[in-house]
Amino acid sequence: MLPVSEAETQILNLTQPLDADRDVEWLPLSAAAGRILARPISSSLDFPHWDNSSMDGYAVRRADVATSSPDTPIALTVIEEIPAGYRPQQTLQPGQAARILTGAMMPPGADAVVMQEETRREGDRVYILAAPAPHQFVRRRGEFYRAGDRLLPAGIRLGAAEIAVLAAAQCVNIPVYRRLRVAILSTGDELVSPEQPLQPGQIVDSNQYALAALVAEAGAEPLMLGIVPDQPEALQTAIAQAVSSADVVLSSGGVSVGDYDYVDRLLESLGATIHIRAIAIKPGKPLTFATFNAAPAAQAQSPTAYFGLPGNPVSALVTFWRFVLPALRKQSGLSAGWGPAWLWGRSPHDLKADGKRETYLWGTLRMTEDGYEFSQSPGSFSSGNLINLAQTNALAQVPLGQTQIVAGTPIRVMQMDARAIALP
Ligand code: AMP
Ligand code: MG
Repeated sequence: MLPVSEAETQILNLTQPLDADRDVEWLPLSAAAGRILARPISSSLDFPHWDNSSMDGYAVRRADVATSSPDTPIALTVIEEIPAGYRPQQTLQPGQAARILTGAMMPPGADAVVMQEETRREGDRVYILAAPAPHQFVRRRGEFYRAGDRLLPAGIRLGAAEIAVLAAAQCVNIPVYRRLRVAILSTGDELVSPEQPLQPGQIVDSNQYALAALVAEAGAEPLMLGIVPDQPEALQTAIAQAVSSADVVLSSGGVSVGDYDYVDRLLESLGATIHIRAIAIKPGKPLTFATFNAAPAAQAQSPTAYFGLPGNPVSALVTFWRFVLPALRKQSGLSAGWGPAWLWGRSPHDLKADGKRETYLWGTLRMTEDGYEFSQSPGSFSSGNLINLAQTNALAQVPLGQTQIVAGTPIRVMQMDARAIALP
């Protein structure tokens, strides 16, 4: 069986990012938050756009006030007042100052600002009580960046700070990667949708909804294709349709070695290349990863990736976090940071595993005075028990070959995406 880290590497190596030419859409700035930038952005402006004051005070010529001090103040004539947003009307001559407010443009001739607290105003004269340093309280034109400078690289997710940078640089149409389309189907004769009455022997298809939520959280577009019975013809049709309509297909169920587990066989007969059939992970051992090469007519398109996830609800989610999410991040155009967010934590109790597979235990991570503490979820630890997976925020990793991690030993813990860690 394939070790987890090798499976992760293989999957990522076989995953190609969207194309920076073909798979780009232009969005207005107001719609670009959370999306991934497809092209680097350069500035067409200097920033700050002109020299401006970072204080309320007086714009001066340093040479005039080089010997100012509280005991030997130097008086200047105030020739104008410059609020933020206005162009100064005059050039400072020797012996002159301009009243200036924060963010206002420096008048020609001035080379420093003396803050209001170090001045004394009397009518149209101002006494300067301290000698300013060169360019004191002046934000100089182009100090933060210049026209032509690279502001943002391609392949980053646009958060609030990046959106602010784009707005300040007057970039109003933003090239971002289109959202990935991820088809989701559930396989199993026993499955019914949540709104159908339950008959004996049936269970509700929760995976469809959980996976759609995860896909949307990852910034991709989920296509919920519904429930497919354990019948080869129906399944083959459904898989073929999913592959032709999406960039990535996620199915759950039907990938074990049971009599009704058809997924792998059908993938082969549809011409997929199966790269992975099982991974040494618990929960989640039966996991199929395959790729479909694009039809000759659509050579410009990337191959479609197929993840056949296990049917057990907890296994489906854990394998999504561990394997699918990094692949979605890479494929959606992010240039780095695909893998899970790992932290070192300690558990107050011994953690147990069977040693035969890399084991993921779900629980809550919180910050304490001396690092992160991981508490395993209470209750039965079964890959079918969704209820103790709910309201957790992390998965502790017990490496292959280890059957116990003694309380207090540092362990690697994987944060589930977008779930905050409680502070002390
Ligand atoms: P399978 O991988 O098809 O053998 O399914 C393993 C277990 O997961 C069985 O108990 C199934 O009933 C359950 N299961 C399969 N698919 C789903 C689903 N979509 N939602 C909830 N449970 C499922
Ligand atoms: Mg099944």
